[in-house]
Amino acid sequence: YWGRRKQQKWLICRVWRHVLHKGDIVIDATCGNGYDTLAMLKMVADESGSGRVYGIDIQIDALKNTSSLLDATVTQKEKELVKLFPICHSRMDEVVPENTAVRLVAFNLGYLPGGDKGIITISKTTLLALEAAKKMLISGGLISLVVYVGHPGGSEELDTVEAFASRLSVDSWICCEFQMLNRPLAPVLVFMFKR
Ligand code: SAM
Repeated sequence: YWGRRKQQKWLICRVWRHVLHKGDIVIDATCGNGYDTLAMLKMVADESGSGRVYGIDIQIDALKNTSSLLDATVTQKEKELVKLFPICHSRMDEVVPENTAVRLVAFNLGYLPGGDKGIITISKTTLLALEAAKKMLISGGLISLVVYVGHPGGSEELDTVEAFASRLSVDSWICCEFQMLNRPLAPVLVFMFKR
C-alpha cells in the first residue's frame, strides 16, 4: 500500500509534519490497516505520554488490523495514546470529548485495501464527517483527504469534498488540491488549513 502510493504518502507526511507538534491531538477518520494511524502517532507521541490519536473505522476488522500493526511497531506506552472506535466518522464528535483541541483530521477515503470493497466511504457521510471535523479543528489545524477517483462513486465523492472546501470562508481557511495531471485516475489530495 505504501509502496504503490509512495510519492503521495511522502507528500502527505510532509504536510502533516508541517502542522503537527509533539503532544498534539489528531483524528484518523479512516484507520483501515493502520498505516496512517501509525504515522500520526509517531508525529504526536512524546516522552511524557502526551499526544493522542483518535482512530475511527466503520469496520471492526480494520481496527483489528490497526491494533495489530501498532502491537508490532510501537511500545505499549505509545499504543495507549491511540483510542480506536468502530463507528462511522460522521459521529466523530460523539467519541472525541467536547472542546478537545484537534490539530489534524485525516481521511483516506474508499475501501479497505485487501478487504471488502463493498464497504466504502460515501459522499453523504463523508460530508457529515467534514462538517464535524470543521467544528472540532483548532486554529493552525488541518483537514487532510485522499480521495480515490478510480472506482464507482469516487468522482462524486471528490465533487462533494471540493464543494465543501470551496464554501469555506477565505478569511479562515486555505484550501488546496493536489492532482497528478499525467495520471487522471490517481488519488486526489485535498488539504484544508484553518488559519
Ligand atoms: N488510512 C488507511 C491505512 O493507512 O491503511 C486506509 C484507509 S482505507 C482506504 C478506507 C477505510 O475507510 C476502510 O478501512 C473503510 O472501512 C473505512 N470506512 C468506510 N466508510 C467509513 C465510514 N463511514 N466511517 C469510517 N470509516 C469508514
